[in-house]
Amino acid sequence: MTSRCARNDTHVASSIVIGIRQYQKGQAGMKQNTLVHCPMCGRASSATMPVDACVVVYVCPQCNTVLRPRPGDCCVFCSYGDDRCPPKQIHTANT
Ligand SMILES: [Zn+2]
Repeated sequence: MTSRCARNDTHVASSIVIGIRQYQKGQAGMKQNTLVHCPMCGRASSATMPVDACVVVYVCPQCNTVLRPRPGDCCVFCSYGDDRCPPKQIHTANT
């Protein structure tokens, strides 16, 4: 399941355009595949991160624990993944 970050839609739309451009141009530092580490059983499972949405629910394939973002994080990848999610990577690259 996915849901959009709490931002206004116009801002999200322009961010997506910028992100896709950067991704096609260089892909420098931009990762869409990451490992999600389950805090319950320790299993690291590979997952694909959508570039235009935040994943707020992730179910561990081994123990079926439902992972949710920690307070202050926008998605499960920021909390439990090896990498920040694409929107965060774009934001970091632009500032
Ligand atoms: Zn697990």
